[in-house]
Amino acid sequence: METIHVDICVIGAGSGGLSVAAGASQMGARVALIEKSEMGGDCLNTGCVPSKALLAAAHVAHTCRESGQFGIQSAEPLVDWSAVNRHVHQVIASIAPNDSQERFEGLGVTVIRAAASFRDRDTVIAGDQLIRAKYFVLATGSSPFVPPIEGLDRVPYFTNENIFSNSEPVQHLIVIGGGPIGIEMAQAHRRLGAKVTVMEMARLLMKDDPELTKIVIQRLQQEGLEFHEGGRDLRLEKTGDGKIAAYCNTDAGAQCATGSHLLIATGRRANVNGLNLEAAGITYSPHGVDVDARLRTSNRKVFAIGDVAGPYQFTHMAAYQAGIVIRNMLFKLPAKVDYSAVPWVTYTDPELAHVGLSEADALKAEKEVRVLRWSFAENDRAQAEKRTEGLIKVITTPKGLILGASIVGLHAGELIQPWILAITQKMKIGAMASMIAPYPTLAEANKRIAGSFYTEKLFSSATRRVVRLLLKI
Ligand SMILES: Cc1cc2nc3c(=O)[nH]c(=O)nc-3n(C[C@H](O)[C@H](O)[C@H](O)COP(=O)(O)OP(=O)(O)OC[C@H]3O[C@@H](n4cnc5c(N)ncnc54)[C@H](O)[C@@H]3O)c2cc1C
Repeated sequence: METIHVDICVIGAGSGGLSVAAGASQMGARVALIEKSEMGGDCLNTGCVPSKALLAAAHVAHTCRESGQFGIQSAEPLVDWSAVNRHVHQVIASIAPNDSQERFEGLGVTVIRAAASFRDRDTVIAGDQLIRAKYFVLATGSSPFVPPIEGLDRVPYFTNENIFSNSEPVQHLIVIGGGPIGIEMAQAHRRLGAKVTVMEMARLLMKDDPELTKIVIQRLQQEGLEFHEGGRDLRLEKTGDGKIAAYCNTDAGAQCATGSHLLIATGRRANVNGLNLEAAGITYSPHGVDVDARLRTSNRKVFAIGDVAGPYQFTHMAAYQAGIVIRNMLFKLPAKVDYSAVPWVTYTDPELAHVGLSEADALKAEKEVRVLRWSFAENDRAQAEKRTEGLIKVITTPKGLILGASIVGLHAGELIQPWILAITQKMKIGAMASMIAPYPTLAEANKRIAGSFYTEKLFSSATRRVVRLLLKI
């Protein structure tokens, strides 16, 4: 068996592992990168990229139906499912070179295509190679969590791992799970012409503020999606004509949906199996590998990042964590994670974006907070686009320190960006209020909501008295 000696051995060539490998090798470290499946991991092959490409196709179909309101004759689009699938895979193919074995070998990384597992605290085995390294980085990602649902073993179903391979028309999709992945796929399929029923055991889009998720859900209901929230006793059955029947009980009574296809989108589980973590002295729980604030595992030679470590399972968080471990490993800096400005976006239409503290969390952290709200209906660009459903909500301290921001509406994922900067830089709301925002942009609403922090004081009787006095001079 050949033994390779490197400075850093990265396990998993997804969002996190690729970021470490690219950064560390370009800074002079000798790096081995081990991947057992496709280069690019979940995000490129079965996650962010195909889901956003499918949503883009669905958006075009929806625009055909909605064009009448702009004076342009609308039409029911003819959806060619296999062509839509080709589009999704073209998008993956156009991004794939960035994550490819060739690119990483070009950067001087030793790429090994095999499943990795620890032999002991200092050695990893991958195929017929032993890898010894100064540091290891676990970036093995997560897989769909499939709960034990009665009847699931007797029906075919999609997860994110196979839904993007489907090129057949979907007549009626039943989605189990109303988190971001389930809801994005539900809207995409609805807009492409399928009937869609979503069954959620708890609350739809549970990690976001209900004041904002309500606006997304209303819009989806207007588009014809059917939701069953708070479902219990979920059961699946294959019907005589080959369809799938899903039953559950909610507070509104017994619910049943009979669909042509089923998607299970009930969360993620960390990829810890098969790594022989015990041999390396690495502890983990059902939530993933245990790490400290420097992302070190219980074996100080091994770091863990991305979905396998959590707590935020997003591509941008895997990349952020990659930067932290690079500073720890290469520069010996005690860099720690700071999760005070973690952003996320759900790419439904309208989009739902958030950064920092929610109103509920801010109230736990501070004695007093101010909550600002600004409706998209007050924004002239939103009026021109006929997209007035939307809300910005910002939480500050009484002195104006920005704690959190949430946006629901057209392009919310773009509009949230200045709030991320503001919270990261610990800025006060006055900074946002004093910028000049081009008219008419949706982003002007960010300035307006910031300005509303001062409205009461600015237009008070005290100000009027001062102004009258000054005008006499
Ligand atoms: C449908 C869907 C949509 C999503 N959309 C978004 C989005 O819009 N925005 C966003 O930020 N995030 C999104 N995510 C989440 C995002 O994909 C993940 O957070 C991100 O991919 C995590 O990166 P990672 O490096 O931790 O893991 P991954 O990208 O999954 O990479 C892990 C890699 O490790 C490999 N591996 C595992 N075990 C071994 C082993 N023993 N040996 C060798 N290799 C191994 C795997 O094959 C895989 O390639 C989405 C996820 C899904 C499922």
